[in-house]
Amino acid sequence: MSSRTLRVCALYPELMNIYADRGNLLMLERRCGWRDIELRLTPSTLGDTLRDEHDLYYIGGGQDADQLRCAADLVEHKSDALRAAAERSAIVLGVCGGYQLLGRSYEIGDEHVEGVGLLDVVTVRDAGPRLIGNIAVAFGDAVIVGFENHAGRTRLAAGQEPLGRVIRGHGNDGRSGFEGARSGNVIGTYVHGPLLPKNSWLCDWLIAGALGVEPGDLVALDDTLEVAAHANALHAAGL
Ligand code: GLN
Repeated sequence: MSSRTLRVCALYPELMNIYADRGNLLMLERRCGWRDIELRLTPSTLGDTLRDEHDLYYIGGGQDADQLRCAADLVEHKSDALRAAAERSAIVLGVCGGYQLLGRSYEIGDEHVEGVGLLDVVTVRDAGPRLIGNIAVAFGDAVIVGFENHAGRTRLAAGQEPLGRVIRGHGNDGRSGFEGARSGNVIGTYVHGPLLPKNSWLCDWLIAGALGVEPGDLVALDDTLEVAAHANALHAAGL
């Protein structure tokens, strides 16, 4: 019998799941399983009214068309629960298109799409090329590595903390040097790859945060492969 349970809600897992973003859920599941922590995964998709009963909410990236389908649903059926969850310190993680939807708005052509507004950012499209490639981001003393591919440019409002600083790659807009956004337990990032298998320490940091413990309280694992994956991605990013 598992000693603990981590309740994870995957938002639109069949629609917001690009560049292997589903791997983030697999990584959470494995690293919990190896520690005898049961991961209880609940999908929540179009039309479902979200309830605030999970420890970690996750939304991956998506093509514009899928993202637009989700945006209105997110605001209508899920934003109240997400807001309540964020307030009581549940983890909310958005990757790329999911990150954009956690912000205030996403502008694409003449469409202005409202986001949940948990992160004080706005995303616009401009005439420039897609921002594509391997990326490395300074996050405290650690480096987040992965891959980015987005056309949207995200701008942080004054006072909004970025997730980290770009060492290699484009990040939020290719200019500011910022990557992602963080408001306490609400995190948005452009890093695919997927994010968590290449950054196992970040996965543990999220698991610990969602369980309300310190990362050092989690049972240590043999991370030989994970460390190699991180080193490989660093190398791919030119470091
Ligand atoms: N559709 C969004 C953009 O291009 C997000 C893409 C993604 O999730 N990779 O900006």
